[in-house]
Amino acid sequence: METSATRLKISNGESLIFSKNSYDAVLFDLDGVLTTTEKIHSACWKKTFDEFLRTRARECGENFVPFSETDDYLEHVDGKPRYEGVRGFLLSRGIELPEGSKDSPSGEQSVFGLGNRKNQLFRKTLEKESPGIYETSITLARRLKEAGFRLGVVSSSRNCRAVMAAAGIGNFFEVTVDGVTAAEKGLRGKPEPDTFIEAASALGSKPEKSIIIEDAAAGVAAGARGGFGLVIGVARKQNEDELLSNGADVVVSDLGELFGSGE
Ligand SMILES: [Mg+2]
Repeated sequence: METSATRLKISNGESLIFSKNSYDAVLFDLDGVLTTTEKIHSACWKKTFDEFLRTRARECGENFVPFSETDDYLEHVDGKPRYEGVRGFLLSRGIELPEGSKDSPSGEQSVFGLGNRKNQLFRKTLEKESPGIYETSITLARRLKEAGFRLGVVSSSRNCRAVMAAAGIGNFFEVTVDGVTAAEKGLRGKPEPDTFIEAASALGSKPEKSIIIEDAAAGVAAGARGGFGLVIGVARKQNEDELLSNGADVVVSDLGELFGSGE
């Protein structure tokens, strides 16, 4: 296969990459690949963690070090199941909190409390504004469908179906595996490959015959761990190196690069 872990820009590679001889399914991440909701997620995590960190700094007499929407978000939170994201970030700051439970009140100083606060902020934002879509991603998906590929969406989010419906793409993809599916079926979240494997299987494909398109380190890592045929990283925040080192075969800054400019 003509892929390598390099910073590859493809201007005319549609036939090279999306060959029906090699692959039969394409699995898209949602937030940050199809919809612009990664920006809302990132902002809601920042608000949640900064509220918590500011209070904690005051109570402990420490300096307030805010949550970074680039480094902290990309490394510890992006693409992971909600409460895994909380655990990962707290661990990076050496902070231990009780787990709490699914019913923990929003903002309680616990893993679930912080996760619930973030989700509350996210849902409130969605009530006020429709999620945007990346037009080039939808164009690519439409072309792939016309070419006979089976298409799925694989998201850690429990809000996945609501976001897809609000973005007007609720019925476009054959299969959706999201945070709700994972909980129901006991699937491990990204960076483990379970949810992608589930989607490939539901589409009648196999990992080695499926392509993954992801914008998160946890997502491309899941693709590499699962032995998927091709893992395409979408670097929205100039994080090409991060995606390559976590398992992307190819990285672009926008999916429009895969079918050339001006189309
Ligand atoms: Mg994403």
